[in-house]
Amino acid sequence: MIGGKDLYDCIVVGAGPAGLSASLFLARYRRSILTFHHNSPRNEYAHGVHGFLGHHGISPAELLARGRDEVTTHGGLIIEACVTGIERISSEQFRVYAGDGNDDPRTFDARRVLLATGLRDVTPDCPGFRDFYGVSVHHCPDCDGYECIDKRIAVLGNGTKTVGFALSLLTWTNTITVINEDKDGLNKDDRAKLAAFQINVRDQSIKALDGDSKSKQLRRVLFSDGDALECDALFFNLGTEPASNLHEMVGCKLDEDCGLVWVDQTRQTSVAGVYAAGDITPNSQLAIVAAAEGAMAAIHIHDSLIPSELKPK
Ligand SMILES: Cc1cc2nc3c(=O)[nH]c(=O)nc-3n(C[C@H](O)[C@H](O)[C@H](O)COP(=O)(O)OP(=O)(O)OC[C@H]3O[C@@H](n4cnc5c(N)ncnc54)[C@H](O)[C@@H]3O)c2cc1C
Repeated sequence: MIGGKDLYDCIVVGAGPAGLSASLFLARYRRSILTFHHNSPRNEYAHGVHGFLGHHGISPAELLARGRDEVTTHGGLIIEACVTGIERISSEQFRVYAGDGNDDPRTFDARRVLLATGLRDVTPDCPGFRDFYGVSVHHCPDCDGYECIDKRIAVLGNGTKTVGFALSLLTWTNTITVINEDKDGLNKDDRAKLAAFQINVRDQSIKALDGDSKSKQLRRVLFSDGDALECDALFFNLGTEPASNLHEMVGCKLDEDCGLVWVDQTRQTSVAGVYAAGDITPNSQLAIVAAAEGAMAAIHIHDSLIPSELKPK
């Protein structure tokens, strides 16, 4: 106890696959941990987590509920609250501020902090989007490409990076149409490359998505000019943003290539004692990768807390 407060070994911010996996390992190392989340995992709209070995197709809510149970049965404490601030108060102690936004935030102290706060997707801003998102409208070919084998896919993106995104979908189907809402978004080379693979480009803006909202099955994209594109699925690639700015508050360096939180091989950020895992760090944005990174962070956090006299020379 310090100053009448518990000093946790580690506070984990985020209870998605990364945060929960780290919390589980830390609890199994018998570390005192506190995990925060505000119940907004990135894949809350997905109908099933694909490609998570042993759990393929499990609903995201079920996966996380099981994870929370596993953490708490190992002695971990999980609190639903928004972390609004983190500050270093000594070389070995951080103070975390958390609350519901109404009352003054409560403070919690820890020797280490793990940021597992994830990303938010920039999503299409058109009527119908929420009716189909997670079942027949997707952002991740790695996650949902297999479910679209030989289907008619519409691709919505911004500029040149749409080309690689659309080409990656050829793994699963040859019927791909790129929707280019910004006429200047694709240059001549981009268009030639798409044409070489029989990928049509529609220079039209989307008015709405239409289909069977009960089964969440997209049937067509409706354009503002009255035209329509019949399709079975839509993949969008409009970018992402961090779900929180806590990493900025503590001064974490960003990766120069992708702008996500830079970490070293031990998953420590540029700020000593602050670690990061999951989508907020560079790498594939998959649930199983996030969980593995959380486990790796936990191993190194535990190691960093072992007194030097207990370590081999
Ligand atoms: C629609 C959709 C479908 C997907 N399908 C698949 C799939 O089939 N297979 C697959 O492998 N991956 C899939 N993904 C990707 C996968 O969901 C992510 O890679 C994974 O969730 C990343 O885990 P994470 O723990 O890093 O972040 P998240 O799961 O986003 O969790 C972030 C956590 O941080 C918490 N948090 C953030 N800020 C704060 C704060 N200030 N205070 C307190 N808590 C905070 C949130 O509440 C949440 O608990 C999908 C994603 C989406 C959007």
